[in-house]
Amino acid sequence: MAIEILKDKCIGCGLCFKSCPYDAFEFEPYTGNKAGKVAKVNAKCSFCNQCLTACKFGAIKEKAAEAAVDLSDYKHIWVYAEQRDGKLMNVALELIGEGYRLAKEISEDTKVCALLVGDGIAHLADECYAYGAEEVILIEDPLLKNYTTDAYTKVIYDAIMEKKPEIVLYGATHIGRDLAPRIAARCNTGLTADCTRLDVKVSSYIEFAKKSTTLDTSTLDPNDPSTGIKQTRPAFGGNLMATIICPRTRPQMSTVRPGVMQKREKVAGAKGELTVIKPNIKEDDIHVKLVEIVKSAKEIVSLTDADIICSGGRGLGGPEGFKLIKEFADKVGGVVGSSRAAVDAGWIDHSHQVGQTGTTVKPKIYFACGISGAIQHLAGMQTSDIIVAINKDPDAPIFEVADFGIVGDLYKVIPQIIAEWDNAEALYDASTK
Ligand SMILES: Cc1cc2nc3c(=O)[nH]c(=O)nc-3n(C[C@H](O)[C@H](O)[C@H](O)COP(=O)(O)OP(=O)(O)OC[C@H]3O[C@@H](n4cnc5c(N)ncnc54)[C@H](O)[C@@H]3O)c2cc1C
Repeated sequence: MAIEILKDKCIGCGLCFKSCPYDAFEFEPYTGNKAGKVAKVNAKCSFCNQCLTACKFGAIKEKAAEAAVDLSDYKHIWVYAEQRDGKLMNVALELIGEGYRLAKEISEDTKVCALLVGDGIAHLADECYAYGAEEVILIEDPLLKNYTTDAYTKVIYDAIMEKKPEIVLYGATHIGRDLAPRIAARCNTGLTADCTRLDVKVSSYIEFAKKSTTLDTSTLDPNDPSTGIKQTRPAFGGNLMATIICPRTRPQMSTVRPGVMQKREKVAGAKGELTVIKPNIKEDDIHVKLVEIVKSAKEIVSLTDADIICSGGRGLGGPEGFKLIKEFADKVGGVVGSSRAAVDAGWIDHSHQVGQTGTTVKPKIYFACGISGAIQHLAGMQTSDIIVAINKDPDAPIFEVADFGIVGDLYKVIPQIIAEWDNAEALYDASTK
């Protein structure tokens, strides 16, 4: 998509300037009208189309995107290293690991770069290096202390335009989901949300697509030396996996949920390159004012960071069942998760939901109690290190992914596990006295 100015109709009145929230208009000299100038659209345009209705002279129209960008101008993989209160989000470290893997598959000289945005956050660079970042791009300014959509979009967009990364990865957090689509729209490129897998080299896909009668591959060159990634994500309620490519524009952008990708082994003391970008940002660029940050009680459930999760499903039979699950979780040092059926029934808050439309988790141990193992639930927990299923139906699909399965009534099984845990603790205490 793009905006086109019809010079013969533009009278240089500037109405489009006033309508544009993105400061995307400039004048250029023109001898064909009285004002001696016509409007010109710059790269800040986000195609909101407000100017189309504002122009009284029919001088602005939408036009289809034309010439593809020169793909070879773009290089390296960026990971948006999301931080909050000066602490890196786990998903950022996971994506640095994934970015490193992709970078090495693309070419020896492709780097994974962590993009750090905020204020007073330079110390986080070391952690990024330790988890595999070869370069840190640091953008600091007091106006970036707290996340605001306007400010972060602007400075990241400016940095992308300057450095031209080939791929940009974001965590599918609330912030990542807000930021990534805006930046993609501004860069006039594609974004694949909630990827569960990323692969390098698109050429084999092009060969496949060429056999299709519906896919237009006429401008795709399978011998193109530039790389492309295949971005895979669940589609149609998780019943099939869709592989999406972004063959004509750059950067390629994906969001990935926390817990899906693997962190690299930490190398303490690792060092890399540091690039500092001085952002061009002023208060007027930010259209919202942050008055106060209120942390909701819901954020207390941190499923993504938990080592042990005890989840309950419809098999609990009612909201009371979550008291047992909570007791179980407290005993084993875990947090409470749930299936969507339990959330939909109003037995527990959505913040506990694991699965495709809940949180994706990857704990060391996942206990599924009274959960059947629907594909949408499995999509959010099947990469857990150890899965223990408790279900009274021996044919429940959850047993197909479970490392340990207990067939039985959870109201009998869980109290037994708790009692055994107490026994084991008592034995351990006695042996260490
Ligand atoms: C677009 C879409 C997105 C979805 N997203 C999600 C999601 O993010 N997360 C999610 O979980 N679901 C999601 N679902 C819903 C999903 O399809 C299932 O309906 C849901 O996971 C079922 O939850 P459940 O396993 O708790 O319930 P059920 O499927 O009803 O299973 C209950 C299980 O409990 C067992 N049981 C009963 N009593 C006991 C007992 N006393 N002791 C032991 N076992 C017992 C039963 O044998 C049964 O296997 C989604 C669906 C759609 C269409």
